[in-house]
Amino acid sequence: MNIANKLAQERRARLAAERLLEQRQTELFHANSRLGDHARLLSNQIVEKRQEVKDVRSVAATLKNENHQVLNDLRNAETKVEVAERRLWDSIETIQDGFAVFDKDSNLVSANFAYLAGLDGIEEVQPGISYARLLELISEEGIVDVGNETRAEWRESMLDRWQSPEIEPRTVKLWNKQFIKLVDRRAEAGDTVSLALNITETIRYESELKEERRRAESANRAKSAFLANMSHEIRTPMNGVVGMADILADTPLSEEQKLYIETIKHSGEALLVIINDILDYSKIEAEKLTIQPEPFDLEQNLFEIATLLLPSAQDKGIDLVVDYARNLPTQFSGDPGRIRQILTNLIGNAVKFTSDGHVLVEVKELPSEQTGLMNIQVSIEDTGIGIPEEMIEFIFGEFNQVEDERNRKFEGTGLGLAITKKLIEMMGGRIWVSSEQGKGSCFNFHLQLPATSDQSPIEGSTFDNLHSAYLFEDDQTFAAVIASQLAPMGIETLVRPSASSAATENAADFYIVGTQFQGRSSEKILQKISQCAPEKPVLLVGSRKSTSPTALGAEHTIQHPFRHQDLDTALACISKALSTPNPTRSEIEVAETEIENLPSQTIPQEAARRMRVLAAEDNKTNQLVFKKMVKNLSIDLKFANNGQEAIELFKSFSPDLIFMDISMPIVDGKEATRTIRKLESQGHLEHTTIIALTAHAMAQDKDEILKAGLDEYSTKPLRKSVITEKLENHCPTGVLDIFSTCSDGATPTA
Ligand code: ADP
Repeated sequence: MNIANKLAQERRARLAAERLLEQRQTELFHANSRLGDHARLLSNQIVEKRQEVKDVRSVAATLKNENHQVLNDLRNAETKVEVAERRLWDSIETIQDGFAVFDKDSNLVSANFAYLAGLDGIEEVQPGISYARLLELISEEGIVDVGNETRAEWRESMLDRWQSPEIEPRTVKLWNKQFIKLVDRRAEAGDTVSLALNITETIRYESELKEERRRAESANRAKSAFLANMSHEIRTPMNGVVGMADILADTPLSEEQKLYIETIKHSGEALLVIINDILDYSKIEAEKLTIQPEPFDLEQNLFEIATLLLPSAQDKGIDLVVDYARNLPTQFSGDPGRIRQILTNLIGNAVKFTSDGHVLVEVKELPSEQTGLMNIQVSIEDTGIGIPEEMIEFIFGEFNQVEDERNRKFEGTGLGLAITKKLIEMMGGRIWVSSEQGKGSCFNFHLQLPATSDQSPIEGSTFDNLHSAYLFEDDQTFAAVIASQLAPMGIETLVRPSASSAATENAADFYIVGTQFQGRSSEKILQKISQCAPEKPVLLVGSRKSTSPTALGAEHTIQHPFRHQDLDTALACISKALSTPNPTRSEIEVAETEIENLPSQTIPQEAARRMRVLAAEDNKTNQLVFKKMVKNLSIDLKFANNGQEAIELFKSFSPDLIFMDISMPIVDGKEATRTIRKLESQGHLEHTTIIALTAHAMAQDKDEILKAGLDEYSTKPLRKSVITEKLENHCPTGVLDIFSTCSDGATPTA
């Protein structure tokens, strides 16, 4: 090999080595650069990790702090719980009542000293002891007085109670006469909390109260008896005063004497009202007043009260109007006496506190929620002095009266509304009032009463030929009542400016004339109608302003206040008159002569005897009053001075009617009646009506009296009208009329 080759070979080798070196350098460079990148990455990661470690450290530090805090709090809380628990138990220990907690297996968790009193010293009595074992210990140690039960029975009943889901409280008596009321409640997790309350004081107090109440009740009974007696004692002499005044008023008297007599009568009657009010209130207070339901006619009841109060209203120049809804039945079961009392008081007050305008009594039916009961609303509206707003809530209280100068001129006890409210409430009703001072008041009450028979109130027209009537009445209240009564019968009321315009139009079947129309008197309107429509029947509806309707010569008349039946009767006559042709004058004359020639007595005078009347009455004044009251009547009257004499006279005199006083010496009225009833049944005699005339005003007396066999009941003071009515009602047939002059020329009784 030559040099040049060698050199070329070396150069090639060197070049290859240089390329390799260069390549290695490049690779090294790349490797270095990757290393650098990696080193940078690592360094970054190190920085991040460092930061993370730092963060974690700081969190750890915070947690450590918090942990400290929590631990502290926990320690504090534990201390607090311990303190609270200690305090709670300290408190529970200090109370005299027992307290214990049992777990779900009825083992004692904890109890205060009072709960385990009597068991101290017994080692096993500690937390963990079972309720059953406690019962055993309590009964065996004689801590509890098991009464009539055996110890085993007592434990069994106590355990039964303990195991029931709702544990009823139970009172146990201890050996030392203490009473413990056990009140146990289920708590969470099946625990039972048990309280043992010492109620010895309460029981002692209760028994003292019972004794007090017994004493009070017996005092109350004594008070009631005293009131009954007082009522009798006051009413008997009052009977003499009012009765004698009544008789004296019938004798010839000077005007001055008449005034004195009227004053005596009114004062006596006012005193009786006051006595009755006080009696009633005392009875309500003593819970002695009872509601005595019986079948009665509500409309008749109201009608009688309105008739009774009408003269007072007339004296004052005010209208007293009654509107008893046509669709409302009249027969109900209720206490008629008490309902009468309620109505008398409310209507009486309305009349008393009204000097101008009207008193309107409305009775209507409201929808009832209870089947079988009618919901009746009675409203008594007046246009009187009214009641100041601030007084309204007080007037139903006892002895409360509105005290102002307008009011105090009125008499009264201030008990009426209190009694009325109580009576209504006792009947399950409610009373309320709306009033405006100076304008008037409206008292309303609801009563739920059972209607007694299947009454079908009148609806639709009951008279085929009566469909409309012309109504001449200025007073809007009257006019509205008449229209409301006629509408349900299908009779429309038409109003025309005058009788002649009505006659020209001739659209109605008949005319109704009230008290006054367009300032003209009813008399004038009647005249006008007879001139322009003589063929049309006219119904004259009288009121306090008119003279008696019959006195005006109207053919069909009714007087306010009227009942449905009064209106029906009048309408029936009108309906008949419309369907019957008018009689000729000569027919009328013949009929009149026939009436004149009718014999004056239909009963043959020779055969008749006078009615025999026995009055059993021990009080001589009352005998005299009675005698005077019947002196003009044709009756045979005998007096018995006591019950024994009444029995004797029953046998020898055979009375047709007996008036029987109740309180009499030797044999009282009830006993005498029982004997008479026995005599009647033994001798198969006819039943003799016996009417109690008594000063007893208590409701329970009525029952007892009727139970004794008396037929009717009438309270003193005696009223001539009542006695006469009773005699008239019970005068047997074939006996001389009590109003007739005697055939034998004998003077009537007394
Ligand atoms: P009094 O026997 O005084 O009438 P009440 O208990 O019946 O007793 O009434 C109590 C009071 O209520 C009355 O004194 C009167 O002030 C007021 N009052 C009752 N009814 C009315 C009425 N219709 N108009 C105005 N005031 C009345």
